[in-house]
Amino acid sequence: MSSISQTVVDFITLAIKSGGWMEMDRLYLQNKVLALIGLTSLDEDCHPEKKDVSSLDLLDSLVKFAREQQVINESLSAKEILEGQLMDLLTPPPSVVNALFAEHYSKNKEAATDFFFQLSQQNDYIKTRAIAKNIVFPTETEYGTLEITINLSKPEKDPRQIALEKQAKKVQYPKCMLCMENEGYLGRSDYPARTNHRIIRMNLLGESWGFQYSPYAYYNEHCIILAEQHRPMAISRETFQRLLTIVEVLPHYFVGSNADLPIVGGSILSHDHYQGGRHDFPMALAPVEKTFPMSQYPDIAAGIVKWPMSVIRLRSKDKEKLVAASYKILEKWRHYSDPSVSISAFSEDGTPHHTITPIARMKEGQFELDLVLRDNNVSTEYPDGIFHPHKEVQHIKKENIGLIEVMGLAVLPPRLKPELQEVANYLLGKKNEMAEYHSAWAQTMLKNYSFNETNVEQILRNEVGKIFKQVLENAGVFKRDEAGRAAFQKFIQQMIKDS
Ligand SMILES: [Zn+2]
Repeated sequence: MSSISQTVVDFITLAIKSGGWMEMDRLYLQNKVLALIGLTSLDEDCHPEKKDVSSLDLLDSLVKFAREQQVINESLSAKEILEGQLMDLLTPPPSVVNALFAEHYSKNKEAATDFFFQLSQQNDYIKTRAIAKNIVFPTETEYGTLEITINLSKPEKDPRQIALEKQAKKVQYPKCMLCMENEGYLGRSDYPARTNHRIIRMNLLGESWGFQYSPYAYYNEHCIILAEQHRPMAISRETFQRLLTIVEVLPHYFVGSNADLPIVGGSILSHDHYQGGRHDFPMALAPVEKTFPMSQYPDIAAGIVKWPMSVIRLRSKDKEKLVAASYKILEKWRHYSDPSVSISAFSEDGTPHHTITPIARMKEGQFELDLVLRDNNVSTEYPDGIFHPHKEVQHIKKENIGLIEVMGLAVLPPRLKPELQEVANYLLGKKNEMAEYHSAWAQTMLKNYSFNETNVEQILRNEVGKIFKQVLENAGVFKRDEAGRAAFQKFIQQMIKDS
Protein backbone atom coordinates (compact mmCIF):
# COMPACT_ATOMS: atom_id res chain seq x y z
CA MET A 1 0.00 0.00 0.00
CA SER A 2 1.66 3.19 -1.11
CA SER A 3 1.46 6.40 0.90
CA ILE A 4 -0.92 9.19 -0.03
CA SER A 5 2.13 11.26 -1.06
CA GLN A 6 3.22 8.56 -3.50
CA THR A 7 -0.33 8.37 -4.83
CA VAL A 8 -0.29 12.11 -5.52
CA VAL A 9 3.06 11.85 -7.30
CA ASP A 10 1.87 8.89 -9.40
CA PHE A 11 -1.34 10.71 -10.26
CA ILE A 12 0.60 13.75 -11.46
CA THR A 13 2.96 11.57 -13.51
CA LEU A 14 -0.12 10.13 -15.22
CA ALA A 15 -1.54 13.64 -15.76
CA ILE A 16 1.65 14.74 -17.54
CA LYS A 17 1.61 11.54 -19.64
CA SER A 18 -1.97 12.27 -20.70
CA GLY A 19 -0.89 15.07 -23.00
CA GLY A 20 -2.29 18.21 -21.38
CA TRP A 21 0.80 19.19 -19.36
CA MET A 22 4.59 19.14 -19.40
CA GLU A 23 7.14 18.14 -16.79
CA MET A 24 7.51 21.87 -15.95
CA ASP A 25 3.89 21.79 -14.67
CA ARG A 26 4.61 19.17 -11.99
CA LEU A 27 4.75 21.50 -8.97
CA TYR A 28 1.73 23.42 -10.16
CA LEU A 29 -0.27 20.20 -10.53
CA GLN A 30 1.00 18.99 -7.17
CA ASN A 31 -0.38 22.07 -5.44
CA LYS A 32 -3.70 21.71 -7.23
CA VAL A 33 -4.10 18.12 -6.06
CA LEU A 34 -3.02 19.00 -2.50
CA ALA A 35 -5.68 21.69 -2.35
CA LEU A 36 -8.39 19.44 -3.78
CA ILE A 37 -7.85 16.60 -1.29
CA GLY A 38 -6.83 18.60 1.78
CA LEU A 39 -3.24 17.39 2.09
CA THR A 40 -0.85 19.95 3.61
CA SER A 41 2.46 18.70 2.28
CA LEU A 42 4.17 15.82 0.46
CA ASP A 43 6.69 13.41 1.96
CA GLU A 44 10.07 14.33 0.55
CA ASP A 45 11.07 10.78 -0.32
CA CYS A 46 8.37 10.41 -2.99
CA HIS A 47 9.57 10.39 -6.58
CA PRO A 48 8.03 9.71 -9.95
CA GLU A 49 8.29 6.00 -10.66
CA LYS A 50 8.18 4.15 -13.94
CA LYS A 51 5.34 1.74 -13.30
CA ASP A 52 1.88 1.14 -14.61
CA VAL A 53 -0.79 2.47 -12.33
CA SER A 54 -4.53 2.49 -12.85
CA SER A 55 -6.04 5.97 -12.97
CA LEU A 56 -9.17 4.68 -11.21
CA ASP A 57 -7.22 3.11 -8.33
CA LEU A 58 -5.31 6.36 -7.81
CA LEU A 59 -8.56 8.32 -7.95
CA ASP A 60 -10.16 6.10 -5.30
CA SER A 61 -7.22 6.62 -2.93
CA LEU A 62 -7.27 10.40 -3.40
CA VAL A 63 -11.03 10.65 -2.84
CA LYS A 64 -10.88 8.37 0.21
CA PHE A 65 -8.21 10.64 1.71
CA ALA A 66 -10.28 13.76 1.00
CA ARG A 67 -13.26 12.18 2.78
CA GLU A 68 -11.13 11.29 5.81
CA GLN A 69 -9.94 14.90 5.91
CA GLN A 70 -13.58 15.98 5.68
CA VAL A 71 -12.83 18.07 2.61
CA ILE A 72 -16.00 16.56 1.18
CA ASN A 73 -19.06 15.16 2.91
CA GLU A 74 -20.47 11.65 2.49
CA SER A 75 -22.89 12.53 -0.32
CA LEU A 76 -22.66 10.93 -3.75
CA SER A 77 -22.67 14.31 -5.50
CA ALA A 78 -19.77 15.66 -3.43
CA LYS A 79 -17.74 12.56 -4.29
CA GLU A 80 -18.54 12.83 -7.99
CA ILE A 81 -17.73 16.53 -8.12
CA LEU A 82 -14.30 15.92 -6.58
CA GLU A 83 -13.70 12.94 -8.89
CA GLY A 84 -14.50 15.14 -11.88
CA GLN A 85 -12.11 17.85 -10.69
CA LEU A 86 -9.28 15.39 -10.15
CA MET A 87 -9.84 13.59 -13.45
CA ASP A 88 -9.90 16.96 -15.20
CA LEU A 89 -6.15 17.06 -14.52
CA LEU A 90 -5.74 13.80 -16.46
CA THR A 91 -7.57 15.35 -19.39
CA PRO A 92 -6.08 17.90 -21.80
CA PRO A 93 -8.17 21.05 -22.36
CA PRO A 94 -10.82 20.92 -25.13
CA SER A 95 -8.66 22.67 -27.75
CA VAL A 96 -5.82 20.19 -27.20
CA VAL A 97 -8.13 17.15 -27.21
CA ASN A 98 -9.62 18.41 -30.48
CA ALA A 99 -6.17 19.00 -31.98
CA LEU A 100 -4.98 15.52 -30.95
CA PHE A 101 -8.16 13.98 -32.38
CA ALA A 102 -7.58 15.80 -35.69
CA GLU A 103 -3.94 14.74 -35.77
CA HIS A 104 -4.88 11.07 -35.32
CA TYR A 105 -7.75 11.44 -37.79
CA SER A 106 -5.47 12.72 -40.55
CA LYS A 107 -3.55 9.44 -40.36
CA ASN A 108 -6.30 6.98 -39.49
CA LYS A 109 -9.99 7.50 -38.66
CA GLU A 110 -10.16 4.59 -36.26
CA ALA A 111 -7.06 5.79 -34.42
CA ALA A 112 -8.88 9.09 -33.74
CA THR A 113 -11.88 7.45 -32.07
CA ASP A 114 -9.56 4.96 -30.31
CA PHE A 115 -7.66 7.91 -28.82
CA PHE A 116 -10.79 9.71 -27.63
CA PHE A 117 -12.46 6.53 -26.37
CA GLN A 118 -9.37 5.57 -24.40
CA LEU A 119 -9.10 9.08 -22.93
CA SER A 120 -12.78 9.09 -21.94
CA GLN A 121 -12.31 5.78 -20.12
CA GLN A 122 -9.05 6.66 -18.42
CA ASN A 123 -10.50 9.90 -17.04
CA ASP A 124 -13.62 8.06 -15.83
CA TYR A 125 -15.99 10.10 -18.00
CA ILE A 126 -17.20 6.71 -19.24
CA LYS A 127 -18.15 4.95 -16.01
CA THR A 128 -16.56 1.60 -16.88
CA ARG A 129 -16.94 0.19 -13.38
CA ALA A 130 -20.62 1.08 -13.14
CA ILE A 131 -21.29 -0.28 -16.63
CA ALA A 132 -19.70 -3.61 -15.64
CA LYS A 133 -22.53 -4.09 -13.12
CA ASN A 134 -25.15 -4.43 -15.88
CA ILE A 135 -26.62 -7.89 -16.44
CA VAL A 136 -26.21 -8.69 -20.13
CA PHE A 137 -27.32 -11.78 -22.03
CA PRO A 138 -28.22 -12.81 -25.60
CA THR A 139 -31.51 -14.40 -26.59
CA GLU A 140 -32.28 -16.42 -29.72
CA THR A 141 -35.32 -15.57 -31.85
CA GLU A 142 -36.45 -16.04 -35.43
CA TYR A 143 -35.14 -12.50 -36.06
CA GLY A 144 -31.63 -13.44 -34.94
CA THR A 145 -29.89 -13.03 -31.59
CA LEU A 146 -31.43 -10.17 -29.61
CA GLU A 147 -29.54 -8.54 -26.75
CA ILE A 148 -30.87 -7.97 -23.23
CA THR A 149 -29.40 -5.58 -20.65
CA ILE A 150 -30.73 -5.06 -17.16
CA ASN A 151 -29.44 -1.59 -16.48
CA LEU A 152 -27.70 -1.42 -13.10
CA SER A 153 -25.11 1.21 -14.00
CA LYS A 154 -26.81 4.39 -12.80
CA PRO A 155 -25.74 4.98 -9.19
CA GLU A 156 -28.44 4.28 -6.61
CA LYS A 157 -29.32 7.45 -4.73
CA ASP A 158 -29.53 7.22 -0.96
CA PRO A 159 -32.13 9.28 0.96
CA ARG A 160 -29.50 11.87 1.88
CA GLN A 161 -28.69 12.48 -1.78
CA ILE A 162 -32.38 12.69 -2.70
CA ALA A 163 -32.91 15.24 0.08
CA LEU A 164 -29.92 17.28 -1.13
CA GLU A 165 -31.39 17.36 -4.63
CA LYS A 166 -34.74 18.52 -3.30
CA GLN A 167 -33.15 21.35 -1.33
CA ALA A 168 -30.97 22.47 -4.22
CA LYS A 169 -31.72 25.87 -5.68
CA LYS A 170 -33.14 25.36 -9.16
CA VAL A 171 -30.65 26.53 -11.74
CA GLN A 172 -31.30 26.61 -15.49
CA TYR A 173 -27.69 26.12 -16.47
CA PRO A 174 -26.73 24.12 -18.40
CA LYS A 175 -30.13 23.96 -20.08
CA CYS A 176 -29.90 20.16 -20.38
CA MET A 177 -27.44 17.27 -20.10
CA LEU A 178 -26.74 17.41 -23.84
CA CYS A 179 -25.81 21.09 -24.05
CA MET A 180 -22.24 22.06 -24.92
CA GLU A 181 -22.14 24.09 -21.69
CA ASN A 182 -21.59 20.80 -19.85
CA GLU A 183 -17.98 20.73 -21.03
CA GLY A 184 -15.96 21.35 -17.86
CA TYR A 185 -19.01 22.09 -15.70
CA LEU A 186 -18.40 21.53 -11.98
CA GLY A 187 -21.78 19.92 -11.23
CA ARG A 188 -24.17 20.45 -8.32
CA SER A 189 -25.95 18.33 -5.75
CA ASP A 190 -28.72 17.92 -8.34
CA TYR A 191 -26.64 17.88 -11.52
CA PRO A 192 -23.84 15.55 -12.69
CA ALA A 193 -20.18 16.56 -12.41
CA ARG A 194 -18.65 17.31 -15.81
CA THR A 195 -15.27 18.94 -15.10
CA ASN A 196 -13.52 16.07 -16.95
CA HIS A 197 -15.93 16.21 -19.89
CA ARG A 198 -14.61 16.96 -23.39
CA ILE A 199 -16.42 17.34 -26.70
CA ILE A 200 -14.98 16.91 -30.21
CA ARG A 201 -16.29 19.60 -32.57
CA MET A 202 -17.80 18.49 -35.84
CA ASN A 203 -19.08 20.53 -38.74
CA LEU A 204 -22.32 19.13 -40.14
CA LEU A 205 -23.93 20.98 -43.05
CA GLY A 206 -22.28 24.20 -41.93
CA GLU A 207 -23.46 23.87 -38.33
CA SER A 208 -21.34 23.17 -35.28
CA TRP A 209 -22.07 19.84 -33.57
CA GLY A 210 -20.34 17.97 -30.77
CA PHE A 211 -19.17 14.36 -30.51
CA GLN A 212 -18.76 12.67 -27.14
CA TYR A 213 -19.08 9.27 -25.51
CA SER A 214 -21.97 8.24 -23.29
CA PRO A 215 -21.03 8.01 -19.59
CA TYR A 216 -23.35 5.02 -19.10
CA ALA A 217 -22.81 3.12 -22.33
CA TYR A 218 -25.11 0.30 -23.41
CA TYR A 219 -22.79 -1.04 -26.13
CA ASN A 220 -19.26 -0.67 -27.44
CA GLU A 221 -18.07 2.93 -28.04
CA HIS A 222 -21.59 4.27 -27.44
CA CYS A 223 -21.33 7.89 -28.53
CA ILE A 224 -23.61 10.93 -28.74
CA ILE A 225 -23.56 13.56 -31.46
CA LEU A 226 -25.29 16.74 -30.36
CA ALA A 227 -26.31 20.04 -31.89
CA GLU A 228 -24.52 23.08 -30.50
CA GLN A 229 -27.87 24.78 -30.30
CA HIS A 230 -30.34 23.64 -27.62
CA ARG A 231 -33.32 22.92 -29.87
CA PRO A 232 -35.87 20.08 -30.00
CA MET A 233 -35.31 16.76 -31.76
CA ALA A 234 -36.60 16.89 -35.32
CA ILE A 235 -36.60 14.27 -38.06
CA SER A 236 -36.17 16.11 -41.35
CA ARG A 237 -34.31 16.00 -44.63
CA GLU A 238 -31.30 17.43 -42.77
CA THR A 239 -31.42 14.51 -40.32
CA PHE A 240 -30.78 12.06 -43.15
CA GLN A 241 -28.06 14.30 -44.56
CA ARG A 242 -26.33 14.60 -41.19
CA LEU A 243 -26.54 10.89 -40.39
CA LEU A 244 -25.01 9.95 -43.74
CA THR A 245 -22.32 12.60 -43.32
CA ILE A 246 -21.44 11.24 -39.88
CA VAL A 247 -20.95 7.68 -41.17
CA GLU A 248 -18.86 9.12 -43.99
CA VAL A 249 -16.66 10.88 -41.40
CA LEU A 250 -16.62 7.83 -39.09
CA PRO A 251 -17.24 4.84 -41.40
CA HIS A 252 -16.52 2.35 -38.61
CA TYR A 253 -19.47 3.70 -36.58
CA PHE A 254 -23.21 3.44 -37.09
CA VAL A 255 -25.39 6.43 -36.15
CA GLY A 256 -29.11 6.76 -35.59
CA SER A 257 -31.64 9.23 -34.31
CA ASN A 258 -34.48 8.78 -31.91
CA ALA A 259 -37.88 9.69 -33.29
CA ASP A 260 -39.16 13.23 -32.65
CA LEU A 261 -42.54 12.40 -31.10
CA PRO A 262 -43.46 11.37 -27.54
CA ILE A 263 -44.12 7.66 -26.77
CA VAL A 264 -42.01 6.52 -29.74
CA GLY A 265 -39.05 8.84 -29.05
CA GLY A 266 -36.20 8.61 -26.56
CA SER A 267 -36.02 10.17 -23.11
CA ILE A 268 -34.62 13.53 -24.25
CA LEU A 269 -36.73 15.25 -26.89
CA SER A 270 -35.61 18.75 -25.94
CA HIS A 271 -32.11 18.68 -27.46
CA ASP A 272 -31.39 17.58 -31.03
CA HIS A 273 -28.92 14.70 -30.89
CA TYR A 274 -28.00 11.31 -32.36
CA GLN A 275 -26.44 8.17 -30.93
CA GLY A 276 -23.83 6.01 -32.55
CA GLY A 277 -21.05 3.58 -31.85
CA ARG A 278 -19.07 0.58 -32.88
CA HIS A 279 -21.48 -2.28 -32.59
CA ASP A 280 -23.36 -4.50 -35.04
CA PHE A 281 -26.87 -4.45 -33.68
CA PRO A 282 -29.23 -7.38 -34.30
CA MET A 283 -31.29 -5.24 -36.68
CA ALA A 284 -28.20 -4.35 -38.74
CA LEU A 285 -27.51 -8.07 -39.11
CA ALA A 286 -31.11 -8.90 -40.08
CA PRO A 287 -31.53 -9.55 -43.83
CA VAL A 288 -33.83 -7.86 -46.33
CA GLU A 289 -36.73 -10.26 -46.88
CA LYS A 290 -38.49 -8.51 -49.76
CA THR A 291 -37.05 -6.03 -52.23
CA PHE A 292 -38.96 -3.41 -54.18
CA PRO A 293 -37.91 -1.01 -56.94
CA MET A 294 -37.91 2.77 -56.52
CA SER A 295 -38.19 3.69 -60.19
CA GLN A 296 -37.12 7.31 -59.71
CA TYR A 297 -33.95 6.12 -57.96
CA PRO A 298 -32.57 3.20 -59.98
CA ASP A 299 -29.28 3.39 -58.07
CA ILE A 300 -30.96 2.58 -54.77
CA ALA A 301 -31.53 -0.97 -53.56
CA ALA A 302 -34.68 -0.93 -51.40
CA GLY A 303 -36.35 -3.62 -49.35
CA ILE A 304 -38.23 -4.61 -46.21
CA VAL A 305 -36.10 -5.97 -43.38
CA LYS A 306 -36.97 -9.22 -41.63
CA TRP A 307 -37.62 -7.59 -38.27
CA PRO A 308 -40.49 -7.36 -35.75
CA MET A 309 -40.80 -3.62 -36.39
CA SER A 310 -41.55 -2.13 -39.82
CA VAL A 311 -38.21 -1.28 -41.39
CA ILE A 312 -37.39 -0.12 -44.93
CA ARG A 313 -33.71 -0.50 -45.85
CA LEU A 314 -32.13 1.63 -48.57
CA ARG A 315 -28.64 1.13 -49.89
CA SER A 316 -26.63 3.16 -52.40
CA LYS A 317 -23.28 4.75 -53.13
CA ASP A 318 -25.05 8.05 -53.80
CA LYS A 319 -25.61 10.02 -50.60
CA GLU A 320 -27.79 12.75 -52.12
CA LYS A 321 -30.13 10.30 -53.80
CA LEU A 322 -30.49 8.37 -50.55
CA VAL A 323 -31.41 11.59 -48.76
CA ALA A 324 -34.03 12.40 -51.41
CA ALA A 325 -35.54 8.89 -51.31
CA SER A 326 -35.60 8.81 -47.49
CA TYR A 327 -37.27 12.17 -47.35
CA LYS A 328 -39.89 10.96 -49.83
CA ILE A 329 -40.64 7.95 -47.60
CA LEU A 330 -40.78 10.17 -44.50
CA GLU A 331 -43.21 12.60 -46.15
CA LYS A 332 -45.37 9.77 -47.47
CA TRP A 333 -45.47 8.07 -44.06
CA ARG A 334 -46.27 11.31 -42.25
CA HIS A 335 -49.45 11.62 -44.29
CA TYR A 336 -50.37 7.95 -44.63
CA SER A 337 -53.41 6.37 -42.99
CA ASP A 338 -54.86 2.88 -43.26
CA PRO A 339 -57.81 2.44 -40.90
CA SER A 340 -57.97 -1.30 -41.72
CA VAL A 341 -54.81 -1.78 -39.61
CA SER A 342 -55.42 1.04 -37.05
CA ILE A 343 -52.93 3.40 -38.67
CA SER A 344 -53.75 7.09 -38.84
CA ALA A 345 -51.39 9.95 -39.55
CA PHE A 346 -53.26 12.70 -37.70
CA SER A 347 -55.83 13.12 -34.92
CA GLU A 348 -58.99 15.03 -35.67
CA ASP A 349 -57.39 18.15 -34.18
CA GLY A 350 -54.46 17.81 -36.60
CA THR A 351 -51.90 16.42 -34.13
CA PRO A 352 -49.33 14.44 -36.17
CA HIS A 353 -48.63 10.82 -35.15
CA HIS A 354 -46.20 9.52 -37.74
CA THR A 355 -42.45 9.76 -37.83
CA ILE A 356 -39.36 7.65 -38.47
CA THR A 357 -36.47 6.30 -36.40
CA PRO A 358 -33.55 6.38 -38.91
CA ILE A 359 -30.24 4.49 -38.60
CA ALA A 360 -27.27 4.92 -40.96
CA ARG A 361 -24.16 2.82 -41.51
CA MET A 362 -21.57 2.05 -44.18
CA LYS A 363 -21.74 -1.46 -45.56
CA GLU A 364 -19.39 -2.84 -48.20
CA GLY A 365 -18.48 0.67 -49.31
CA GLN A 366 -22.09 1.80 -49.67
CA PHE A 367 -24.36 3.92 -47.50
CA GLU A 368 -27.11 1.97 -45.81
CA LEU A 369 -30.10 3.62 -44.19
CA ASP A 370 -32.75 1.82 -42.15
CA LEU A 371 -36.03 3.72 -41.81
CA VAL A 372 -38.22 2.41 -38.99
CA LEU A 373 -41.84 3.53 -39.35
CA ARG A 374 -43.32 4.81 -36.07
CA ASP A 375 -46.83 5.75 -34.94
CA ASN A 376 -47.58 7.19 -31.48
CA ASN A 377 -51.39 6.96 -31.53
CA VAL A 378 -53.30 5.81 -28.47
CA SER A 379 -56.73 4.18 -28.33
CA THR A 380 -59.24 3.10 -25.68
CA GLU A 381 -57.89 -0.42 -26.00
CA TYR A 382 -54.24 0.76 -25.82
CA PRO A 383 -54.16 3.97 -23.76
CA ASP A 384 -50.32 3.84 -23.47
CA GLY A 385 -49.87 3.56 -27.23
CA ILE A 386 -51.21 1.28 -29.95
CA PHE A 387 -47.62 0.62 -31.09
CA HIS A 388 -46.04 0.61 -27.64
CA PRO A 389 -45.48 -2.35 -25.25
CA HIS A 390 -48.96 -3.68 -24.43
CA LYS A 391 -50.29 -4.37 -20.94
CA GLU A 392 -49.32 -8.06 -20.93
CA VAL A 393 -45.60 -7.28 -21.38
CA GLN A 394 -45.39 -4.15 -19.24
CA HIS A 395 -44.35 -6.13 -16.17
CA ILE A 396 -41.00 -6.44 -17.98
CA LYS A 397 -40.87 -3.29 -20.13
CA LYS A 398 -43.21 -0.31 -20.17
CA GLU A 399 -40.79 2.46 -21.11
CA ASN A 400 -40.57 3.99 -24.61
CA ILE A 401 -39.16 1.86 -27.40
CA GLY A 402 -36.39 4.20 -28.48
CA LEU A 403 -33.52 3.91 -30.93
CA ILE A 404 -31.53 1.31 -28.97
CA GLU A 405 -34.47 -1.04 -28.40
CA VAL A 406 -35.58 -0.62 -32.01
CA MET A 407 -32.21 -2.02 -33.09
CA GLY A 408 -32.69 -5.11 -30.91
CA LEU A 409 -31.05 -4.27 -27.59
CA ALA A 410 -33.46 -4.24 -24.65
CA VAL A 411 -32.55 -1.80 -21.88
CA LEU A 412 -34.57 -3.12 -18.95
CA PRO A 413 -35.10 -1.29 -15.65
CA PRO A 414 -33.00 -2.17 -12.54
CA ARG A 415 -36.10 -3.31 -10.61
CA LEU A 416 -35.98 -6.53 -12.66
CA LYS A 417 -32.85 -7.84 -10.97
CA PRO A 418 -34.51 -8.46 -7.57
CA GLU A 419 -37.90 -9.12 -9.18
CA LEU A 420 -36.65 -11.92 -11.41
CA GLN A 421 -34.97 -13.48 -8.37
CA GLU A 422 -38.37 -13.56 -6.65
CA VAL A 423 -39.97 -15.05 -9.77
CA ALA A 424 -37.26 -17.75 -9.71
CA ASN A 425 -38.02 -18.45 -6.02
CA TYR A 426 -41.67 -18.78 -6.87
CA LEU A 427 -40.98 -21.13 -9.79
CA LEU A 428 -38.86 -23.32 -7.50
CA GLY A 429 -41.63 -23.44 -4.90
CA LYS A 430 -39.57 -21.46 -2.41
CA LYS A 431 -40.61 -18.65 -0.07
CA ASN A 432 -40.90 -15.53 -2.23
CA GLU A 433 -42.16 -11.99 -2.60
CA MET A 434 -43.00 -12.14 -6.28
CA ALA A 435 -44.81 -9.05 -7.52
CA GLU A 436 -48.43 -9.70 -8.44
CA TYR A 437 -47.91 -8.39 -11.97
CA HIS A 438 -45.51 -11.26 -12.77
CA SER A 439 -48.03 -13.86 -11.63
CA ALA A 440 -49.79 -14.69 -14.94
CA TRP A 441 -46.42 -15.00 -16.66
CA ALA A 442 -45.08 -17.28 -13.91
CA GLN A 443 -48.21 -19.49 -14.04
CA THR A 444 -47.72 -20.04 -17.77
CA MET A 445 -44.04 -20.89 -17.28
CA LEU A 446 -44.96 -23.43 -14.57
CA LYS A 447 -47.23 -25.15 -17.08
CA ASN A 448 -44.55 -25.24 -19.77
CA TYR A 449 -41.41 -26.26 -17.86
CA SER A 450 -40.27 -28.28 -14.93
CA PHE A 451 -37.91 -26.08 -12.96
CA ASN A 452 -34.89 -26.90 -10.86
CA GLU A 453 -31.98 -24.91 -9.40
CA THR A 454 -29.80 -25.52 -12.48
CA ASN A 455 -32.23 -24.57 -15.25
CA VAL A 456 -34.30 -21.79 -13.70
CA GLU A 457 -32.01 -18.87 -14.59
CA GLN A 458 -31.56 -19.88 -18.22
CA ILE A 459 -35.28 -20.53 -18.77
CA LEU A 460 -36.15 -17.18 -17.19
CA ARG A 461 -33.66 -15.40 -19.43
CA ASN A 462 -35.12 -17.09 -22.52
CA GLU A 463 -38.61 -16.08 -21.43
CA VAL A 464 -37.53 -12.47 -20.85
CA GLY A 465 -36.09 -12.59 -24.38
CA LYS A 466 -39.43 -13.79 -25.77
CA ILE A 467 -41.17 -10.90 -24.03
CA PHE A 468 -38.73 -8.42 -25.54
CA LYS A 469 -39.47 -9.89 -28.96
CA GLN A 470 -43.18 -9.38 -28.23
CA VAL A 471 -42.43 -5.78 -27.14
CA LEU A 472 -40.85 -5.12 -30.54
CA GLU A 473 -43.78 -6.78 -32.32
CA ASN A 474 -46.14 -4.51 -30.36
CA ALA A 475 -44.13 -1.51 -31.58
CA GLY A 476 -44.27 -2.63 -35.23
CA VAL A 477 -46.84 -0.63 -37.21
CA PHE A 478 -47.40 -3.28 -39.89
CA LYS A 479 -47.82 -6.61 -38.15
CA ARG A 480 -46.19 -9.71 -39.58
CA ASP A 481 -49.50 -11.50 -40.14
CA GLU A 482 -51.18 -11.66 -43.54
CA ALA A 483 -53.17 -8.44 -43.10
CA GLY A 484 -50.11 -6.54 -41.86
CA ARG A 485 -47.88 -7.70 -44.70
CA ALA A 486 -50.53 -6.77 -47.27
CA ALA A 487 -50.93 -3.34 -45.65
CA PHE A 488 -47.15 -2.77 -45.73
CA GLN A 489 -47.13 -3.67 -49.44
CA LYS A 490 -50.01 -1.26 -50.06
CA PHE A 491 -48.05 1.56 -48.37
CA ILE A 492 -44.99 0.78 -50.47
CA GLN A 493 -46.98 0.61 -53.72
CA GLN A 494 -48.53 4.02 -53.02
CA MET A 495 -45.18 5.50 -52.09
CA ILE A 496 -43.59 4.19 -55.30
CA LYS A 497 -46.52 5.39 -57.40
CA ASP A 498 -46.23 8.91 -56.01
CA SER A 499 -42.48 9.08 -56.43
ZN1 LIG B 1 -29.52 21.20 -24.33
